[in-house]
Amino acid sequence: MNFELTEQQLKYRSAFRKFAQERIDPIAQELDEKALYPHDIFDEMKQMGFYGFTIREEFGGSGADSVSFAIALEELARAAAGVAVAFAVHNSIGSFALDVYGTDEQKKELLPKMASGEILTSFALTEENAGSDAGNIETTAVRDGDEFVINGTKRYITNGKYANLHSISALTTPGRGKKGLSCLLVPSDAPGFRVVKTENKMGQRCSDTATLEFKDCRIPVSNLLGKENRGLSIALKALDSGRFGVASIAIGCAQAAFEKALHHAQTRVQFGKTIISNQGIEFMLAEMGTQIEAARLMIYRAAWRKDQGLPIGKEAAMAKMYATEVAEMVTYRAVQILGGAGYMKENDVERYYRDQRICQIYEGTNQIQRWVIAIQLIREFGK
Ligand SMILES: Cc1cc2nc3c(=O)[nH]c(=O)nc-3n(C[C@H](O)[C@H](O)[C@H](O)COP(=O)(O)OP(=O)(O)OC[C@H]3O[C@@H](n4cnc5c(N)ncnc54)[C@H](O)[C@@H]3O)c2cc1C
Repeated sequence: MNFELTEQQLKYRSAFRKFAQERIDPIAQELDEKALYPHDIFDEMKQMGFYGFTIREEFGGSGADSVSFAIALEELARAAAGVAVAFAVHNSIGSFALDVYGTDEQKKELLPKMASGEILTSFALTEENAGSDAGNIETTAVRDGDEFVINGTKRYITNGKYANLHSISALTTPGRGKKGLSCLLVPSDAPGFRVVKTENKMGQRCSDTATLEFKDCRIPVSNLLGKENRGLSIALKALDSGRFGVASIAIGCAQAAFEKALHHAQTRVQFGKTIISNQGIEFMLAEMGTQIEAARLMIYRAAWRKDQGLPIGKEAAMAKMYATEVAEMVTYRAVQILGGAGYMKENDVERYYRDQRICQIYEGTNQIQRWVIAIQLIREFGK
């Protein structure tokens, strides 16, 4: 067993750290305050080849391994988790189904454009009556000759407004419930497609979260991804594959908050000594640092298993559940260690506290992760 990062992984870490600290961190407060989507930052990320980070080299991407992807997400999230999530969706759940289930033609046509950033993707599963219960999707895609006609609404979709290709789940065989769901690619210029709302959020405010409407929206049948009526399994596999990325975003917020708290504890003097001289504060920091490292190891293990082609359902769910709850505790304590300063926007930790919060909700809530983990543990150890 080797716990060292490879030379390539270290190189990626320095590249993403430099970019995040120099280009994103200085404007992160403003992006949050004004809920600004940072077009310039994303343009630069395109030019640096970040849009194709996980896309295979044969399709023009960098073909980065999953541990590198986890590292990149942590670095971006240390500066602004909203930038990290846009990058994460495009490089994981937005492109996953195409890479794994797409036809050769679909891959050749679309993956190079995704790698260059000409195409930005979203992953649209959630609806008003289908959140945790993804099998309850009501959007329909009925065949009419060489086209599917889509009707329905998807909500809370990351990259929803700015993506030009949406990977959606819809009922191609209505009446069969989750067994009638298929995965379809919908370009944003398809007739009948419209973005009807963008959300004003608690955290990750510079990310784009939108409601998508499909009204007699027509796409060619060749935009079907994978087999018809196998859409739920494809969507759930995509979520499995992206989950450790959410964990990394949470740990990026936690690491940033931890560093601010440590610095504050070493410099803030009360009762004639630095506050870190109090064991109550020092022990809090020791626990925060330990939990972050434990979570990071769980993330790297899930990512490494993915690259080995091993199952990651349990490991990714455990990493997401643990890391996101560590992030909650660490950012909460960071605010506490900064005292009144922790509550002020100028010191960033309240932003990390808000930004990490959604990581326990999207890509499957932590209650759903517990369910996934329990099922696997029962299979492994149950009688
Ligand atoms: C900022 C943001 C970005 C998002 N991005 C995307 C995206 O890109 N694509 C996409 O498709 N979706 C996206 N989502 C949607 C997200 O995945 C859902 O919000 C999430 O899956 C929960 O669904 P829900 O909101 O309908 O909550 P519900 O499913 O209604 O859950 C409400 C509560 O009940 C609990 N609960 C539900 N069922 C059970 C159960 N069986 N056992 C125990 N507890 C249960 C949940 O854990 C939760 O605490 C995003 C959401 C947000 C807020």
